Amino acid sequence: MTVHAGVLREHLPFVEKRLIGIVSRGGSLLAKWMIHHGQQNPLYSHWEELCSVLRRWDVTFSIGDGLRPGGLADASDEAQLRELATLGELCERAWRCGVQVMIEGPGHVPFDQVEYNMKLERRLYNGAPFYVLGPLVTDIFPGYDHITSSIGATAAAYHGASMLCYVTPKEHLGLPKREDVKQGCIAYKIAAHAADVALGIPGARDRDDELTKARAALNWEKHFELSFDPDTARAFHDEDLDVDTDFCAMCGHDWCSVRISKEITTFLSGKDEAYEWEKPQVSAALSEDQREILEKRGVLSTEEIHRLASKTRAQVGVERGRKASCHSDLTDPTHARQLQSTGDVR
Ligand code: SF4
Repeated sequence: MTVHAGVLREHLPFVEKRLIGIVSRGGSLLAKWMIHHGQQNPLYSHWEELCSVLRRWDVTFSIGDGLRPGGLADASDEAQLRELATLGELCERAWRCGVQVMIEGPGHVPFDQVEYNMKLERRLYNGAPFYVLGPLVTDIFPGYDHITSSIGATAAAYHGASMLCYVTPKEHLGLPKREDVKQGCIAYKIAAHAADVALGIPGARDRDDELTKARAALNWEKHFELSFDPDTARAFHDEDLDVDTDFCAMCGHDWCSVRISKEITTFLSGKDEAYEWEKPQVSAALSEDQREILEKRGVLSTEEIHRLASKTRAQVGVERGRKASCHSDLTDPTHARQLQSTGDVR
């Protein structure tokens, strides 16, 4: 439960200078009530009473920021900062009543003001956990606000926010549907994880390092397995080349730096039979047909690309439209290696 007890009558004159006024539902309703009745915010006036009810039922609740900025131009303004100070006061009064609270933070803040806002909140709230709604770092990308806000959320998390509230692509536009929620949640997983890594939290980067190793080894199955969203990673890869190859359709065989790097490592190790510093080994590349197809990638149909871009298929004559039996969709890595070593992958 969030209560907007920090919006006070004396704060309202500062809202007039804003471009977009009050964007919090609770904040706008309470402001209208105060103007209509000519009275102070009742949640503020009856704070201890409210806290005693929440204390009795052992509820941890959230103190909302009803005057949070709703656009870059309104960020860090008088209305927001005065309410911030009131939220700090309410936090201490709640603690004196024996009630735990968390505090809501801003939603639209230019990137260069995020650190200032987070440090100010940490100081005013005496270490009480606070969460942020993004913040969005630009206002001109409706439809992409899961991205504009996750950039601000990364900075906010890095500078001390305790929790991130996700934003979907539908923000400001309509009711989010399932796919919008997925996109929003993933954007915020990225923000939170990026901040955890940057903060040096022990173990936070382990999975990144494992995925880098799988990527360096061109181990696609492991690559997908370690991905946050394996289905999407696999679908994107298989869209162009749905077979296990030591490159992907981005650069193609001849230009795959990861594959070339693997060759260099083997070559320099001296284990390669053809090791000879003056004459670097030239690996087997694509056939002329395959090369032609990759050059025309984007013009040809997926089927044509599949038919000619896969060395494996061309060599063993796998039927068009079917995956090789060594493909990671069909077999485990050990079995796939056995099949590949025998060449029996039809
Ligand atoms: S082809 Fe390019 S994008 Fe794909 S694995 Fe190789 S270097 Fe990476």
